[in-house]
Order: sequence, then C-alpha cells, then structure tokens
Amino acid sequence: MHKGLQWMALAGWLALGCAACATTASPGVGRTGDLAATADIYAMSDFSRVRKYDAHVHANTMDTAFLEQARADGFELMSINVDYPDFPALETQHAAALALAAAEPARFHWATTFPMDGFGAPDWADTVAAALARDVAQGARAVKIWKNVGMVERDADGRLIMLDHPGLSPVAERIRALGVALIGHQGEPHNCWLPLEEMTTDNDREYFRNHPEYHMYLHPEEPGYEDQIAARDQFLAAHPRLRFVGAHVGSLEYDVDRLGAFLDRFPHATVDLAARMSQVQYQSVRDRDKVRDFFIRYQDRVLYGTDLTLGPDADPDEFRRQAHAVWRADWRYLATAESQRVETIDADVPGLALPRAVVDKLYYANAARMFAPAPIPPASGAGN
Ligand SMILES: [Zn+2]
Repeated sequence: MHKGLQWMALAGWLALGCAACATTASPGVGRTGDLAATADIYAMSDFSRVRKYDAHVHANTMDTAFLEQARADGFELMSINVDYPDFPALETQHAAALALAAAEPARFHWATTFPMDGFGAPDWADTVAAALARDVAQGARAVKIWKNVGMVERDADGRLIMLDHPGLSPVAERIRALGVALIGHQGEPHNCWLPLEEMTTDNDREYFRNHPEYHMYLHPEEPGYEDQIAARDQFLAAHPRLRFVGAHVGSLEYDVDRLGAFLDRFPHATVDLAARMSQVQYQSVRDRDKVRDFFIRYQDRVLYGTDLTLGPDADPDEFRRQAHAVWRADWRYLATAESQRVETIDADVPGLALPRAVVDKLYYANAARMFAPAPIPPASGAGN
C-alpha cells in the first residue's frame, strides 16, 4: 500500500511536470527565414495555420480553456482518461470528456480507461469489457492502460501485475475487437534506473535527488527497466493485431536506435512524444542528423503529444499561456531550424527542420489514423 502511494506521487510529478518545458526561445539565433525560403520546411509563422493534433493531453475539467487554446493554435486534442488518484475521479473525467466532445466534436477526442479494482475476480474482464464497449459507443477513440500495471497493482499473491499477465488478455482482445487503439504507458524514463550523475535531464535528476524513495536505481528489488520493456513487448507479441500507441515514446525515449528497432519489430505500434521532448532533444544536441533521420524514416509511426494537463484547480488563463508556449516551443524544435534554450538539458537546441510532409504526419495524419472513429458495430448478435 505504502509503495503504491509512493508510485502515485511519482506519477503525479511525471504527468504535471509534463513538458514542464522550461524552454525559452532565442529569436536571435533563428535561421528559419533563410531556410524556409530555400527548403521545404515550415516557419514559426506557419504554426497556428497548419492543422495539428496533440495526441496526449488530460482535460480533467469541463472548463473550455483547453479547447479554446486548441482552437486558437490549430490543434485537435486526444484527452486521455487515467485512473490516477491525483486526477479527479474517473466518473468526473468521463463526464468532462463527454461534455467537451459534445461542445466541439471535430476538435476534442477522448480515450477511456478502466480500473484494476477486482482484477483476478471471475467477472472482472467481462465487467471491464462491457464498460469499454459502452464508452466506445459514446465516442471514445482509444483505451488507456497506465503504469499502475507493472508498478503498483499486485495480484492476490502480492506479485506485481505486469502487462503480459494472462488476466489482461481478454481485455486486450476486446479492445482490438472494438476497433480502437490501446494507449500503453509502461515503466518510467530510463533515467529512473540510473544513478543521479548519469541522468540526462535536470528535471529527472532534481526530482530523484529530492525523492530517493522513488528512485528505482536505489530499489533493485523492484522490476528493472528491462523487465518493464520485456513485459510490454511480450504483450504486443501476444496481440499482434492490436493497434498500440506507446505513450511517452514507449519508454524508449533515451535512444532513437532502440526505438527504431521496437517499431520495426511491431509494425502496428506507434509512439507519442508526450512529456519526453527533452530526452529527444538531449540526443539531437549530440547528433542532430541521427535524430532527424529517425523522424524521417519513421514518419508514419510517431504522434506529436505533450501531456498538457488542465485540472479543476488550475487558472485557465495561466494554463492557456502555458499550453501556447509549450506548443510553440515544440513546433520551433520539430518544424523549424531555429535554436532555443532548453533549461532541463542546459543546452541550446537547434530545430530539426523536418520536411513539411513529415511534420504533417507527426502533427496530424498519424494521430488521425490511430484515433479514427471505431467502426459501427454489427446490428446484432455477430460476435467477434
Ligand atoms: Zn499523460
């Protein structure tokens, strides 16, 4: 129990520290004007007019501030419900999703989730399956499974329930049959299992210095990084037809080579970039061409996302400013050649200046494909 609470607290830091994006632009360094004139890339001035999709946000209140900023900046949203104690109750998240989707159905999309309470009971999987079918009928475009699977929830014998637990298989098959994607967040950033001096970003280093109880490097009795990744991969191998979005770069944020190998192995899998842009930037500061080549090669497999979270206690105006700043900073990095200061890695980060056609996929087409509406279910009886 105590351990579980610790993990919940850690999860909160990860969700809210989100892109916590201590990024500041350095306008004087930019070269986009020149390049944009001669190459097929976007400029900062294209930001608000290009169609975009933030594939990983949390709109946890009926307040329309998130939707308004998305409209102003040209974004559609995938708002993901999560069974996370620092968020409002699942019913509240669900109600907010329905209200916002009703307000602007072409812009606001949502993913449902399911609680792990009662896992192992004979009727658990059927109960979850029925709830998911109801949610998809109400418009849910995906289902989220969170890192409480693998890090918090334990079975009757006290063992952690990993993603490849056979008890989760019926739910995975139901999600596949419903025709929607599964968004999976398993494990933590690679840094969580490293000593402080080897971590790559200041936000990770500072947090784990102040909270050694959450620092898995100090807890070798818990599943390791490779254990989490192996369980996720085993799960995908067992459900090859499942459409899968690995949240937070599939927890492979630290190495684009390894991420590429993962995407090669699982052709139905994609990843989102939520809350891990600084880890990608850490790599591109060292080898910009390698990271740029990765995005071009895997242009159909990566979804732009932030983890921006609007909770009921937030100041809506301040949130709008933050969302706008995060979205622009990320656009500057992915779409233009301008440099910007990224405090969490203490570096000036040149933009990747990805080709427009690639940006259009990362920023829109891939999410639109992965989160396409579920097919209309058969009128009666025909089970699958
Ligand atoms: Zn999230």
